[in-house]
Amino acid sequence: MRARTTIGLAIASVTALTLSACSDAGKGGATTAAGDDISIVATTTPLGSVVEQIATCAGGTASTLMPVNADPHQFSASSAQVADMVKADLVVANGLGLEGGLDASLQQVAADGTEVFPVAEHVDPLPWGADDHGDHEGHDEHADHDEHEGHGENDGHEGHAHGEFDPHFWLDASRMATAAQTIGDKVADLTGNEKWATCGAEISDELTALDDEIRDALADIPEERRVIVTDHQAYGYFNKAYDFHSAGVVIPGGSTEAQPSSQELAGLADVIRAENVPVIFTNAAVNQRLVDALAAEVGGEVKVVSLYEGSVGPKDGPAADYQGMMRENARLISEALA
Ligand SMILES: [Zn+2]
Repeated sequence: MRARTTIGLAIASVTALTLSACSDAGKGGATTAAGDDISIVATTTPLGSVVEQIATCAGGTASTLMPVNADPHQFSASSAQVADMVKADLVVANGLGLEGGLDASLQQVAADGTEVFPVAEHVDPLPWGADDHGDHEGHDEHADHDEHEGHGENDGHEGHAHGEFDPHFWLDASRMATAAQTIGDKVADLTGNEKWATCGAEISDELTALDDEIRDALADIPEERRVIVTDHQAYGYFNKAYDFHSAGVVIPGGSTEAQPSSQELAGLADVIRAENVPVIFTNAAVNQRLVDALAAEVGGEVKVVSLYEGSVGPKDGPAADYQGMMRENARLISEALA
């Protein structure tokens, strides 16, 4: 099994070298360490943070495709980045349609022989709107987003039709814990090195502890304040895991690509006023103009607070890794609502 895998990878590497006209020997330069025989690229920064932690524990290294503050829905790879993924042995992707701007590149990378491993489908994914308790009268239209498909083409991931499931699983730390174990096991299978599985379990335990920590940080928010409005529909897993629900989103459709109509913004402003929602949560990657337009429409006291949704924060900041991003979100949400 291991020998066959190695031969397959060697062929993929030769293809990559030919395609990129790269004269350096070996696989992706930044991602291999002495004694380690696999190079891994993760797509998003939350996944990249966890993959890098597992790799560090296992004595390897991994790299992350997207820069800090990239929008995972819209980010597209340069041809050099596609070549780097083709040179890698494994690309860890979120999947379930999250990386809309990367779809074609990931298909090309897979066609060129690099395994693309979409993690979200391995963490018990939820359908869209699973956090909606259906108990808010008067704004049923916000629970009824029929336009989630958005991207159209099938992304080739077995098991889930594109658009059926919500891809934003990482905002539930317990699911990220499952992802860490799954990724560790996957790399152990590919390399025959059980260290990766052990390290996946170690990081998974850390993330399970993080999940408890987040629960504690949010515990003081009273039930009637656990109603949130966000820039787009990214909080289904967060809401279900930590007992919040959504009163609406600024950008409809499950991605960040759509534009709300002025009627939709006015309708959401009505909901915010009617339910006394004190804050609109947004993130660095989206168009602030829309969120500001909504806040202006609401008038009065509504605050706008930026969270870490699709990306970790900058190096040297408190949200530089996945754990930091989740802790900061819990702190900011608690501060805004408690
Ligand atoms: Zn999103």
